[in-house]
Amino acid sequence: MALVVIGGVAAGLSAATRARRIDPRLEILVLEKGPDISYGACGLPYFVEGRVQDREALIVYTPEYFRKERKIEVRTNSRVASISHPRRELVLESGARVPYEKLVIATGARCDTSGISGADQPHVFTLHTLDDAGRMRRFLAERRPRRAVVIGAGYIGVEAADALRRNGLQVTVLERSGHALLRDDPNLTSAVARQLDLHRVEFRTGIDVPSIEADSVDGVPCDMVVVSAGFKPNVELAADAGIQLGRTGAIRTDDRMETNLRGVFAAGDCAEVTHLVTGRPTWIPLGTTANKTGRVAGAAAAGARDRFPGIVGTSIVSIFGMAFATTGFSAVHARAEGFDPVSARIEANNRARYYQPVKTTVELVADRTTRRLVGATIVGDDSAAGRINVVAAALHARMRIDDFEQLDLCYSPPYSPVWDPLLIAAQQLRHEL
Ligand code: FAD
Repeated sequence: MALVVIGGVAAGLSAATRARRIDPRLEILVLEKGPDISYGACGLPYFVEGRVQDREALIVYTPEYFRKERKIEVRTNSRVASISHPRRELVLESGARVPYEKLVIATGARCDTSGISGADQPHVFTLHTLDDAGRMRRFLAERRPRRAVVIGAGYIGVEAADALRRNGLQVTVLERSGHALLRDDPNLTSAVARQLDLHRVEFRTGIDVPSIEADSVDGVPCDMVVVSAGFKPNVELAADAGIQLGRTGAIRTDDRMETNLRGVFAAGDCAEVTHLVTGRPTWIPLGTTANKTGRVAGAAAAGARDRFPGIVGTSIVSIFGMAFATTGFSAVHARAEGFDPVSARIEANNRARYYQPVKTTVELVADRTTRRLVGATIVGDDSAAGRINVVAAALHARMRIDDFEQLDLCYSPPYSPVWDPLLIAAQQLRHEL
């Protein structure tokens, strides 16, 4: 087989599809250890919630589709057990051997529950695959739990908390660190805590959970538990084959997503990428990056020269309808990365005063020495998405706050006030510098 891809979700299938576009005659095989391929993991919380009723709605394409329409062979329930690069051969769990010329590793990441005793009980869940979500839905329907504990206040944890609360459960979120959404940002954490509290979800920080009991976690009574902590890239297969990992613990690649082994590429949640604000490697596993790095790896495997420059770490999550959006670094994190951060935080109307505005909070962070923008946090309604993307573009362009303040942003009363909240925050930040 000319090109073999390990992993049949975002990165793996993007790689296979891009390789097919570039080379219509290339033999392509995708090996997926699970029963499903090509599903939107990002939609799983909405399936648990019940907003998405049908599991099939989350599946974008089937193996049959890939075979017929794209001439790509996809084998499910096919776990790769080892890679022998000198022989250009994979060994599957079944014992079968699969030769390759080019290989794309897109094995994703996992929620590692091994450090928590009792995590194997039937009322304990992770939320990573369609199977996980299906199991949770069945548990909710059949066992009718009343109280849930969510371990971990990253975005998947809070999405799970939101979904369970909307199913009528009492929910407590326990987080080991002092902050929410994996971002050391006291204002953001307070805003998340306020929103959870408003919807009667209890949020406790500084709680390290070593074990889960049959009916409680850390003294909090519960009938079900969602573990959403301890995310790790699935790199063991690659590391055993001699593929170098970076300092983030994920697979190191160049900007064509090629590993230290010639002809072997890695993409998606198992690979690290460059953070464009620092120029250093980072591991921020997200679907956007998985699709893009998959495309680049597929192109390279098929002989083209695409490249992936990096990310600025942009994300957004809805917690009970309020958007929490971030890009780049918080002030605390920026300092840890060696910047001399100065930040300004403003609250402003998201549209004209007479057009039923809602409040939006914008915090911008810049480096005092270079005056470059290095991060932002925006909390508000849906308009936070568009605004955080403007800051993300500015981070890509390495824009200074002085230029950012001059941006020609749109204005019409239903969409923004005449001074966009971003520009108000920029003015404020320039005064602070
Ligand atoms: P995965 O999707 O993890 O796929 C890897 C595949 O490789 C798996 O199917 C696995 O079974 C297979 N595999 C692993 N090892 C082997 C092996 N040895 N042999 C064969 N197959 C193997 N991202 C966003 O950008 N926005 C969001 O809103 C968002 N929401 C999310 C919500 C949830 C609940 C979750 C779980 C994730 C969310 N993400 C979101 C993240 C996004 O889904 C992931 O970044 C993306 O799925 C990563 O794609 P991937 O192909 O790298 O890895």
